[in-house]
Amino acid sequence: MISFYPGPSKLTDHIEQYLADAVKSGILSINHRQEEFVRLVEATVLGLKEYLKVPKEYEVYFVNSATECWYIIGNSIVDDSVAHLYNGDFGKKWSDVDKNLGHNTLDIRFDINKEIPTQFIQDVSLICLTHCETSNGTILSDNSLSLLRKNNSEALIALDATSSMGGVRIDFTNIDLCFASVQKCFGLPSGLGILICSPRAVKRATELNRNNYFHHLKHLHEKALLFQTCNTPNMLGIYLLNRVLKARTELNHVENALQKNARLIYQFFDDYKNGFQLLVRNESARSPTVVTVLGDPSKINQIKLDAKSNGIILGNGYGEWAKNTFRIANFPAHNEDDFLQLFHFFNQYK
Ligand SMILES: *Cc1c(COP(=O)(O)O)cnc(C)c1O
Repeated sequence: MISFYPGPSKLTDHIEQYLADAVKSGILSINHRQEEFVRLVEATVLGLKEYLKVPKEYEVYFVNSATECWYIIGNSIVDDSVAHLYNGDFGKKWSDVDKNLGHNTLDIRFDINKEIPTQFIQDVSLICLTHCETSNGTILSDNSLSLLRKNNSEALIALDATSSMGGVRIDFTNIDLCFASVQKCFGLPSGLGILICSPRAVKRATELNRNNYFHHLKHLHEKALLFQTCNTPNMLGIYLLNRVLKARTELNHVENALQKNARLIYQFFDDYKNGFQLLVRNESARSPTVVTVLGDPSKINQIKLDAKSNGIILGNGYGEWAKNTFRIANFPAHNEDDFLQLFHFFNQYK
């Protein structure tokens, strides 16, 4: 079986070895405040900063998941009003979290084939964006992110980068809070979230000084200064992340390979027809990490079943595109051979 589900997805190469090594190393049986584990957290934080090219004054925290980051930010950072700019279901769900927390929430929806609006947004202290909208396979351009930043220099900007971090470069100078889960572009089992914060974000959280949640940013910050975590973290997840980071070449190389596969996939489905078409028509809005294919719901359902009996797992559609699309993950763990196998299946299917 090969999984193209956009998370959890195909696991990274050598995962069995890493799991066996984790058990053998003894790290899973020591207390998380002990020196040996603290050094592992330190090495993993430094490894992530190096790999992702995170500015050195930014901090990295280990939390439970991307979904939890929506709550951490809502509890720690939102002061008066928050704006959510989105074109799909992950962005909408995040906005719903802020509404449920009682925040004054401004929703700005945009079309999946259009650029994100970049104008000045009045009276908000935080702007929330989704880098790759996993529900429909779109991505925000660096250019629009920097324009948005330029037009809103007072507000903090938070970016859900769950299906891009680790596979696509992120310009952190445009972003104050950025987060992801490891089951997408890190090719790992789920259950570990990464949250990256600018000094401005830490300052805001410290000033607001709320104490209503164990993973309040202020607590995360205080513990992170010592390379510690607030609770007993996913120690196995951190161990595995460290191994993955050590095995990776530079992000530039990883992204180039991923972009090359993305071009193959988009080209294939542009040519494929047979009752299917790419959901996102605007090429510059297409995410390299999640490709969404549109079709008649009964055909979509059938092809997923047939793919499965051929050893290929396609991702279900999501949210408003649940029934009339399937999704294909193109994460760093996937290689060209995986896609040749996928194309072979679709070519036979014609
Ligand atoms: C997968 C995903 C999430 C949710 O991740 P969890 O690990 O389930 O919390 C959130 N946002 C985006 C954009 C995602 O792709």
